[in-house]
Amino acid sequence: MHIYEDHGIVIQDQERILVDPHRKRVDADRIFVSHAHSDHVHIGAKNPSTYYMTPLTHGLVEKKIPKAAYAEKMHFNSHVHGKEHKISFVNSGHILGSAQIVVEGEKKVCVTTDMKLQDSIIMPGAEIVPCDVLVIESTFGKKEYKFPEREDVYAQVGKWLKHAQQQNFLPILQGYATGKAQELTKIVNEYSSAIPFVHKNIYEKNAIARAHGHHIGKFELIDHNLKDAEVLILPPNLCDYETLHAISVSAKKSVVTGIATGWPSPSNGHETHFQLSDHADYDQLMNYVGKAEPKQVFTDHGFARELAIAIQKEFKIPARPIEEAKQYVLAQYERVTP
Ligand SMILES: [Zn+2]
Ligand SMILES: [Zn+2]
Repeated sequence: MHIYEDHGIVIQDQERILVDPHRKRVDADRIFVSHAHSDHVHIGAKNPSTYYMTPLTHGLVEKKIPKAAYAEKMHFNSHVHGKEHKISFVNSGHILGSAQIVVEGEKKVCVTTDMKLQDSIIMPGAEIVPCDVLVIESTFGKKEYKFPEREDVYAQVGKWLKHAQQQNFLPILQGYATGKAQELTKIVNEYSSAIPFVHKNIYEKNAIARAHGHHIGKFELIDHNLKDAEVLILPPNLCDYETLHAISVSAKKSVVTGIATGWPSPSNGHETHFQLSDHADYDQLMNYVGKAEPKQVFTDHGFARELAIAIQKEFKIPARPIEEAKQYVLAQYERVTP
């Protein structure tokens, strides 16, 4: 069995399995799309192989699936049999519909892709998959990344909304349309008495999540109704000065903005920062490895090298960034690494 990076994560025996390809033209027998974030979704029309994704991910990315592509929906905890492998999806706790990919053959391999262990107001955290080989994300794979309890941040958002309303400001929350916005929608519903008015892109994603049975609360489309709005939710890329000014004029109120992201305080002093990440922090990553008890680990994204070193030290197992595994086969790798 070979595991390496080649325009996505490859797991290969005679059969070639590819997870989250970075480009549309790829060579693989079966392709798995872990979740709906655009850097993970590149679906080509000309591939003869099938793309598998959860039903909700399929709903969220439907517009990006070419008519000629083979896309198939696979539910959580169900599986497909390849020539030598059984492949299944397990919740990754990252965004609604997001999945870890579990490949069982001669060895059991789990590719977490983007994940978090924290439960959120709209979904449970990732299920930890015991495995022989773990490919774990490492976006925040450095000890200094430690996220607060989610409920504490929700309460902060609630307080901020209340404060803004008392001062007759219009609060605007910023979060990515896919993932963060569904959580923000639910937070506004649960931690304030307002119904959020949301941008069209968010409205579409929210409606898809709701149609798939997720309870994210009430929301309304921003139309010509700004004067009735008590809270807005917008994608961050639309929160430039001109747009905010235009909103303020139509709503006849001053606006205050808050942004939800895991990166520590990106704000320039004008907006309030709520540290809500859809990724695992360092402790969650180490916790995952400790409980999954893999015999070896590959790290992927962000602080891959730092996390690999920490894992080697803590668990005395081989670990390395998957990017460096391009030319290695697993057997060789086991020999060269202590
Ligand atoms: Zn993601
Ligand atoms: Zn990602």
